[in-house]
Amino acid sequence: METKYIFVTGGVVSSLGKGIISSSLACLLKARGYRVTIQKFDPYINIDPGTLNPYEHGECYVTVDGHEADLDLGHYERFTDIQTTRANNVTTGRIYQSVIDKERRGDYLGKTVQIVPHITDEIKRAVKALGNTGDFDFIITEIGGVVGDIESLPFLEAVRQLRWELGDSSLCIHLTYVPYIAAAKELKTKPTQHSVKKLQELGIQPDVLVLRTERDITTEVRRKIALFCNVAPDAVVQSIDVDTIYRVPLKMHEQHLDEIVLRKTHTPIEGEPHMAPWMNFLNKMGNATETVTIGLVGKYVELQDAYKSINESLLQAATYADHRLKIVYIHSEKVSDANVEEKLAGMDGVIIAPGFGQRGIEGKFVALKYCREHDVPTFGICLGMQCMVIEFARDVLGLAEANSTEMNPGTPDNVIDLMEEQKSISNMGGTMRLGAYECRLAPGSKAAEAYGSQDIKERHRHRFEFNNAYREKFERAGMACVGENPRTHLVEVVEIPSKRWFVGTQYHPEYSSTVLSPNPLFISFIKAAIAYKAEIGK
Ligand code: GLN
Repeated sequence: METKYIFVTGGVVSSLGKGIISSSLACLLKARGYRVTIQKFDPYINIDPGTLNPYEHGECYVTVDGHEADLDLGHYERFTDIQTTRANNVTTGRIYQSVIDKERRGDYLGKTVQIVPHITDEIKRAVKALGNTGDFDFIITEIGGVVGDIESLPFLEAVRQLRWELGDSSLCIHLTYVPYIAAAKELKTKPTQHSVKKLQELGIQPDVLVLRTERDITTEVRRKIALFCNVAPDAVVQSIDVDTIYRVPLKMHEQHLDEIVLRKTHTPIEGEPHMAPWMNFLNKMGNATETVTIGLVGKYVELQDAYKSINESLLQAATYADHRLKIVYIHSEKVSDANVEEKLAGMDGVIIAPGFGQRGIEGKFVALKYCREHDVPTFGICLGMQCMVIEFARDVLGLAEANSTEMNPGTPDNVIDLMEEQKSISNMGGTMRLGAYECRLAPGSKAAEAYGSQDIKERHRHRFEFNNAYREKFERAGMACVGENPRTHLVEVVEIPSKRWFVGTQYHPEYSSTVLSPNPLFISFIKAAIAYKAEIGK
């Protein structure tokens, strides 16, 4: 089948959930047997979000091929079970970089290089790159930002041209906001009308409108919007607030969004999407009565999106274990010897979060010491694993000054250090150990049991590593290095086997956890937390 292109734009305000709508549509199309992928175009100048701090842009997601990507790619993978790559996330910075590289090479043969056609052509090439592989029936392209932003103009011009060239093989879904004005007791359509007008001024007529709303959109309002926006009334779909984002695909299906898309792109509609496994997940979520409580110790806990993939992985694991999930966010800067008991006493399990830099690190050590001594199920991820190693070195090996050279370059005991090949790198962008690497797990370890396999592949995002010169000392004292890269022998997983569940991973297992295939290590951790809760009789 000829590849179809679906563009998703947004209007009125940001944070309406374009990523969730795109993911939900992809989920439904995939459940109908189509080969689907989603890509995100971000209008900012950064080459990728790797250099952005979490206050700017939430979590940085990592694809298997080592691209530091927008967190929406995490939603795409969680909703669809597809693996995204570098080609699925393109920024203005990437587009300009490649145009400027071409200009320097002389590819433009003396022509004046301009936004139209050179930048727009480059955007079009990037949109079609995935389609040209022949691997997909549908390419869903989400355009970041809001219609009316200066930054998105070249992207929208590229969408206009592509719509013109592709005709019925393409479609535009526009997501807007319909506010409810309490004083007037009314849903207001004007922002949507303005936003669609803005899109029309740019030469794009949306085919489908998705209206984000907190109240049900009445038939009357739907008709009004259809009339003023040149959209068929049945192609005006509401996206009402729901208890979990994972319900959105069903809400979209109830309003036939998948069928509308198939019909408008002249794609055969056969039967219903196979959503039974998805329903099973939602039913489990709805039926769970017991709660498992996980403390997440990190320095970005006030930011809703900073630990997005960890939150979702925990939720998926808890759901499959028939439990509700309660995450207690514990600010690592606020944990001290004096209050650690009070902060952690109610936790069934503790996650020590990834991160960079010194801030909040001492609180992580305090929390880890408490968890280790009280045998609380504990999961250290990336920096969290490095902290496990440092805390153990200080407290058990008696190396009081042990540290990572990231925190103290002059430490006498560099139990976490840079690899030789990293030492000469001065650029910050894209220079970490990134993407999926193989890991061999020791038989009988908690990690190997969890995965049910000794050979796994997980994604990384870090510069510093466990220093193998100390390995024997750790192993003799009871912290085992149970996962290692088979080629480089870098330590990827540590465990204290004598504890209930005390595991640290240098990699980020949260990036590979999806609704239909949750990450085994999160499942194992949640089960350990549930068992611990039962054991101590809470
Ligand atoms: N800052 C640590 C490193 O660079 C850990 C990074 C992380 O937690 N993602 O190695």
